[in-house]
Amino acid sequence: MAEIALRGVRKSYGKTEVVHGVDLDIAAGELVVILGPSGCGKSTLLRMVAGLETITEGDISIGGAVVNRLEPRQRGCAMVFQNYALYPHMTVADNIGYALKIAGVSRADRRERVGKVAGSLGLTEFLERKPGQLSGGQRQRVAMGRAMIREPRVFLYDEPLSNLDARLRVAMRVEIRKLHQRLGTTTLFVTHDQVEAMTLADRIVVMNKGVVEQVGTPQDVYNRPESTYVAGFIGAPGLNLLNGVADSDQGVVTLRDGQRLSYDRVRWPEVGHGPVIAGFRAEGVRLEPGGLSGRFDFAEELGAAQLIHATIGGETAIAHVAGATRLAAGDPISFIVDPAQVQLFDVSTGRRISGENESVPADRKGVHGLVLV
Ligand code: ADP
Repeated sequence: MAEIALRGVRKSYGKTEVVHGVDLDIAAGELVVILGPSGCGKSTLLRMVAGLETITEGDISIGGAVVNRLEPRQRGCAMVFQNYALYPHMTVADNIGYALKIAGVSRADRRERVGKVAGSLGLTEFLERKPGQLSGGQRQRVAMGRAMIREPRVFLYDEPLSNLDARLRVAMRVEIRKLHQRLGTTTLFVTHDQVEAMTLADRIVVMNKGVVEQVGTPQDVYNRPESTYVAGFIGAPGLNLLNGVADSDQGVVTLRDGQRLSYDRVRWPEVGHGPVIAGFRAEGVRLEPGGLSGRFDFAEELGAAQLIHATIGGETAIAHVAGATRLAAGDPISFIVDPAQVQLFDVSTGRRISGENESVPADRKGVHGLVLV
């Protein structure tokens, strides 16, 4: 178990920089998920920690020591990939114990350690099978066993669940979480799936185009997204985002079609008069008369609830409501949004406008492109 620190980490391939200076501290024993869309640089970041990619600039430390120049095997990391590439001709036991065999561990010790690891992964009854005789989930567990047996200081997972079907992914997520609780090994987990990130992580690192947009607990990034990018990425669906013009005297945002959305102006002292993006969660919306009016488009069925897609102020907004609706496309609809739940973002930068009780660095005050009151 070791802490990891990244300082000003950059990566370029030729002249193209793909990771633009990442600073990150991961505590010993923490499970941190790096989340972002394909191509944002998350695998590259993970591979730099593992030592599979060189670092163009900056430092990476594991357990307090800079590892920039260490070979992968000297770093004490074990990596689990999406393509787990087991040895097809070897049994599960031999696959799991392979690293120990290479290290010259005796047959008896190997058997004991393989037995323990297999037990903790529910693989005991499959030890004599070949990978071809296992399901995808079982194969993935063997890959994890192969990493675990080395008793690494750090686990690195690179989209390990992407090849599994939806049901298995959920089951494996739970297993990885339980495993982490039991072993307490520092873990970095890369995924593009926000649900995976929300359910697994102690903290989430949201990446966008080679930069870190926000680091926080799942609750932090859900409740208090630092940017419209994070707001739209986290949650199912993401935060509803509507363009409008704020009036801080009245505490309202006038939407494109002239409708007025109230916000709690005490909470948003930094908002002045001018264009903003107003956000609210689908889960906070009630479909009752007297709110923002719009047109019903369609309903996404979730079983116990529905996601009601509507057009409001010329933009799409979604409500998460219990039960079923009987609306037809084009029907009028009304969204009641609690003013206390409205969040505000700067139009030009997409950054969250600081709200009440939030410490605002002096150099950020007044940079929101708004006239401050
Ligand atoms: P992610 O894991 O978020 O999908 P990657 O870290 O794999 O993203 O890639 C980040 C960017 O770096 C992408 O634009 C990708 O095309 C580029 N890239 C990754 N590996 C290489 C490489 N070996 N050579 C050149 N470009 C690369």
